[in-house]
Amino acid sequence: MTVKSLSGAKIRQVYIDYFLDRGHTMVPSSSLVPGGDQTLLFTNAGMVQFKDIFLGTDSRPYTRATNSQKCMRVAGKHNDLDDVGQDDTHHTFFEMLGNWSFGDYYKKEAIQWAWELLTEVWGLQKERLYATCFKDEKREIPTDEEAAEEWRKQPGIDPTHIMFFGRKDNFWEMAETGPSGPCSEIHYDRGEKYCDLQDVPGHVCQVNGDCQRFLELWNLVFIQYNRTDATHLEPLPATHVDTGMGFERIVSILQDVDSNYKTDLFAPIMDTIQDLTGHSDSERAANLTPYRVIADHARAATFLIADGVVPGNMGRNYICRMIIRRAARFGGKIGLDDPFLARVAEVVINEYGEFYPELSRNRSAILSNITSEEQRFQRTLVGGLSRLEVLLTKLQDNGDMVLPGKQSFDLYATYGLPLEITRDIAREQNMEVDESGFNQSMQEHRTASGAGGDFGKLIDEGVEVYRHLLENLQAQGTLGIEGVAYNPYEWLEMEGHLLAMLKDGKPISEAEPGDKVEVLLPRTGFYVEAGGQVADNGIIRSVNDSSNARSEAWQIRVTDMRKPAAGMIVHIGEVEIGTPRVGDLAIAQVDTRYRRDIMRNHTATHLLHAELRAVLGEHARQAGSLVAPDRLRFDFTHPQALTSEQLERIEAGVNVRVLDNYQLNIRVKPLQLAMEEGATALFGEKYAENVRTITIGDDEPFSYELCGGTHVEETGDIGLFLITSEGSTAAGIRRIEAVTGRGAYEMVQRRSKTLKSTAALLETTPEDVPAKIAGMLDELTQQSKLLSRLRQQLGNLRMLRHMDRVPVVNDVPVLTAVLEDTDAETLRSMSDVFRQRNPSGVAVLGSVGSSGRPIVIAAVTEDLVKRGLHAGELVKFVAGQMGGGGGGRPTLAQAGGKDAGKLKEALASVPGWVENNLKNE
Ligand SMILES: [Zn+2]
Ligand SMILES: [Zn+2]
Repeated sequence: MTVKSLSGAKIRQVYIDYFLDRGHTMVPSSSLVPGGDQTLLFTNAGMVQFKDIFLGTDSRPYTRATNSQKCMRVAGKHNDLDDVGQDDTHHTFFEMLGNWSFGDYYKKEAIQWAWELLTEVWGLQKERLYATCFKDEKREIPTDEEAAEEWRKQPGIDPTHIMFFGRKDNFWEMAETGPSGPCSEIHYDRGEKYCDLQDVPGHVCQVNGDCQRFLELWNLVFIQYNRTDATHLEPLPATHVDTGMGFERIVSILQDVDSNYKTDLFAPIMDTIQDLTGHSDSERAANLTPYRVIADHARAATFLIADGVVPGNMGRNYICRMIIRRAARFGGKIGLDDPFLARVAEVVINEYGEFYPELSRNRSAILSNITSEEQRFQRTLVGGLSRLEVLLTKLQDNGDMVLPGKQSFDLYATYGLPLEITRDIAREQNMEVDESGFNQSMQEHRTASGAGGDFGKLIDEGVEVYRHLLENLQAQGTLGIEGVAYNPYEWLEMEGHLLAMLKDGKPISEAEPGDKVEVLLPRTGFYVEAGGQVADNGIIRSVNDSSNARSEAWQIRVTDMRKPAAGMIVHIGEVEIGTPRVGDLAIAQVDTRYRRDIMRNHTATHLLHAELRAVLGEHARQAGSLVAPDRLRFDFTHPQALTSEQLERIEAGVNVRVLDNYQLNIRVKPLQLAMEEGATALFGEKYAENVRTITIGDDEPFSYELCGGTHVEETGDIGLFLITSEGSTAAGIRRIEAVTGRGAYEMVQRRSKTLKSTAALLETTPEDVPAKIAGMLDELTQQSKLLSRLRQQLGNLRMLRHMDRVPVVNDVPVLTAVLEDTDAETLRSMSDVFRQRNPSGVAVLGSVGSSGRPIVIAAVTEDLVKRGLHAGELVKFVAGQMGGGGGGRPTLAQAGGKDAGKLKEALASVPGWVENNLKNE
């Protein structure tokens, strides 16, 4: 086969088919948002979705897997952002091909297959390939002779191309503790001319020599140890294989091009950018960095949004925002000033949509989110850039080359300029940004706004206790291979012996009233929190019959559930009565009333989801949910607030579905089949091979979701569905809260009571309350108009009294007065009255406004302005004494103060000021 003719898509397929033929299961790429993993911002390797298998907390129905995994490396330890655009090989988003063995095949097969695929199937020249193996430079961990031996057996391999490297290159660890093992890397020699370090003194041109000549193609990790602390490795009972091959890189080699951007994975994207700019080929070549950044970032943003990560201010959403804005800014550098990224994203969707159908499914959400983010950025960009210019120039003038972190944070907070863009611009002027200062300001800001940024620990420290417990119980035959049996759908009441109890994370044999305990039973129907549905409540109590040896009654109230390790489920609760002992026969009862409230709310979220899509469009997709007994919360993607008309339609629509009383159809089927049938899956959720599906609607289902939650049998069980609020949680994400069943009934009751008592107060019927209140509001308006007229008249009267005796300073009448209960407008009209009566004079009128702050108006007649009196200065002088300020025209000015207690004293200073400032004619 001539490999040059292979398209990227075909290369991906050949890889997967090769391993399918060798007994592997194709496990679709997991979401870029790691499911249930709080330690990772983004999925950054193929093994992420299998991590729990290596940790021993999860198991799968297959022992061999293969796929192409979507990955992002843009933050944290693996951060390639700085290199993206600068070279031909770094990307924020990339694909990783992989094959895995979970306690199945090991080094022999992994190495043999890797060699065969590269050399026989893909026809790479054997003399260009190198294999590395692990040899510990500290001589603490054994050399991986086993792998080296396998390599030596491969047909046509040059034995001198089998090399040994130390911990940095050839030993893999998941974390500071946990699974680890040696690895073997396969490198490809592209030829001497690719060495970009030839002129660097001391450069040894070889594998791991850091130049562009030798490319690492494939990493085969052999997981065989469990690291318990910094110095101890224990052999694992089962060994695993975890491999990863950079997809873009292998495509560039097989298509024989010197840049990932020249492969057919990127070429159509690059060409589209050229079409948009109208560049000639030489102009394109001269602007390679912007082209690469735009192509890379547009591809990343497209995949992110398809996985539900929309632009926003925090965490993953921030990354999505940042890469769109960064691409937009690089677009600006090559003349793309109007929003253009959606045009590029469209090509990404077309090129990748077949293998990653989520792209095509979410086409409109991807395009609209990208464009509106570009528009948001444009609105603030100019302000941000010019502010940054000012800051940088100032620093340079002072010989300072580092922009303080606080300033770069303010640029983000005020102008939406992400740190990464500020840094780009600073670097273009050979300056740097204090990034730790930025992070500190960001942290302070988050703490101030109450948002946490902490990712949890990778491994729950207590997990070992549960694993040992499980192993012991399995060894005794008390628990089967699957561990605790779990069926929340059918078992609301079950009997069994107390297998174990834990208090403060340690096993105990007996508990006292008041003890907070975790209780292990052989099986349970108590729901464990998942998919937004909260855990069940209930009780576990002693069985009061002859088989109970002690016949002592005890009871534990269960308030939460937990799954601390694969196969383990514990009830969390408090002993209310008696002293439960391990071995006692017990009965566990789910609180069915509490559970039914939850089921109503859960089924209602499915109806709501379907109705949102029907009313708002297909882009309205679930972005999170909470199903509690007293309420439900549903987050979904939608760019703007819902109108009250839309909310009414949605609420009415759900209630129609409730009253039509559809039977829920619940089936378990293969994931693949459910996806093909168009079931709605959630972002970031890990699904097993076989999934539970919930379908509603008899012949024409209107709701079809993958869901492990508990549901009512018929929609009529929901009773009534009422929306209680609608709001926003992040840019592009709306949240609806609602109640059903008992909650809805209680709300209606409460509102009805309020309405009745309001009607009683108003001495009318509930129906007439609106009319009555409208009438009262009318009356109130009339009254306040009358009141303000009366105030005006009262003010006039007082003013006239003051004007009867206006003191004279030199030859000038100077009136100062405090007019109670008067607003600024009245003060102004009073000063007019003064000027009508006094063709020459000064008036300063003060009052304390309704806010409790003093206001002052000063009026000076024209003739006195000529003699050096200025109302603006006068009012400033007066207000200054009350902690305030103001100003205005020479003839009329207004000011406010802070301290009302100083008003009289301040006014008393006016005659003196006039005397000092008055010039004689
Ligand atoms: Zn070199
Ligand atoms: Zn559900």
